[in-house]
Amino acid sequence: MKFTAPVIIGLAAVLAYLGPPAELGMMNSPDADQPAHHTDSGFTNPWAGEQHSARFRDVLKFMWEHPPGRPRYKTSVGTIPVTEPNWEAIESPGDSMVITWLGHATFLIQIGGKNILTDPNLSDRASPVSWAGPRRVTRPGMTVEQLPRIDAVLISHNHYDHLDTRTVKQIGSGPTWYAPLGMQKWFRARGISKVVELDWWQSDGTLGNIKILATPSKHFSGRTPWDRDKALWSSWVVAYQGRKIYFAGDTGYGPHFKEIGVSEGPIDVALLPIGAYEPRWFMSPVHIDPAEAIQAQAELQAQRSVAMHWGTFLLTNEPLQEPPEMFRQYADSAGLDEGHAIILRPGETLIVPRETTPVP
Ligand code: ZN
Ligand code: ZN
Repeated sequence: MKFTAPVIIGLAAVLAYLGPPAELGMMNSPDADQPAHHTDSGFTNPWAGEQHSARFRDVLKFMWEHPPGRPRYKTSVGTIPVTEPNWEAIESPGDSMVITWLGHATFLIQIGGKNILTDPNLSDRASPVSWAGPRRVTRPGMTVEQLPRIDAVLISHNHYDHLDTRTVKQIGSGPTWYAPLGMQKWFRARGISKVVELDWWQSDGTLGNIKILATPSKHFSGRTPWDRDKALWSSWVVAYQGRKIYFAGDTGYGPHFKEIGVSEGPIDVALLPIGAYEPRWFMSPVHIDPAEAIQAQAELQAQRSVAMHWGTFLLTNEPLQEPPEMFRQYADSAGLDEGHAIILRPGETLIVPRETTPVP
């Protein structure tokens, strides 16, 4: 491995991504009054078992086996076809839930007369700089200019593929931004002051009749090698008149799916990540794979799942089109048809009509 500029940027990115090696990381002394996921220096995953602090030698092994800038599978831009959104449904959603996948973790959710975006990244890269870092291989389903009026934006965590400075600035301070604890300062520095910071299990009811609830995820945060886990990560539940949408953000598999299912289930639609899982020895603590997504759907008591976090940025080592193939396969074995474990094309709109109560 030659230490060229892309390799050095890649190494810095991987270090930022992984944070300080566990053996060099800060020691946290848990305070009895703090929730289990709070620490003196930031936040942690509170569940026992596999944690996400990679050892330094693991980072080096990963870098050696998978040099940055040299993806294992060559993918040309446009491999995955983009579909035109259903503009008619977007303009007049009526009392249906209308969900359009714009690519990666970005959805336009329309429910209860409001337009909500998740983790908006409509830029060319998932990176701190515009000239290097993971490049978009599939164009976004919609441009910023094509977006309808946005009332709220949900942010799951501050990794570059989920919190893109350029897109955030383009959307600006019109909507209310919902983010996990520790992120308000970042938004304020970019001129956005309507930010609601929530801890896990805290909710906010200021979006009309819609409840926005922050729920746990098993992940981590950081945009530089110095801010590892200083801000929280979360998933979100959007609830309106008994209908619920779950947005998972990034997450490894953990007990939180069951906890959320017990507390919030049944869920109408769960938006679940299915990509960025290879190599498993390195990625499994922080990213579920398609099999775990299907398991999560059951534990969340979610009637339908919609696959996300695939086909947009090449972040890890599985082939670009493998995640939906695997997802379909595991869905079939779980008895979930294409209307219940849903693979949208980028840009595609899903309409979930309000179910009519059968007349006795
Ligand atoms: Zn992440
Ligand atoms: Zn991600």
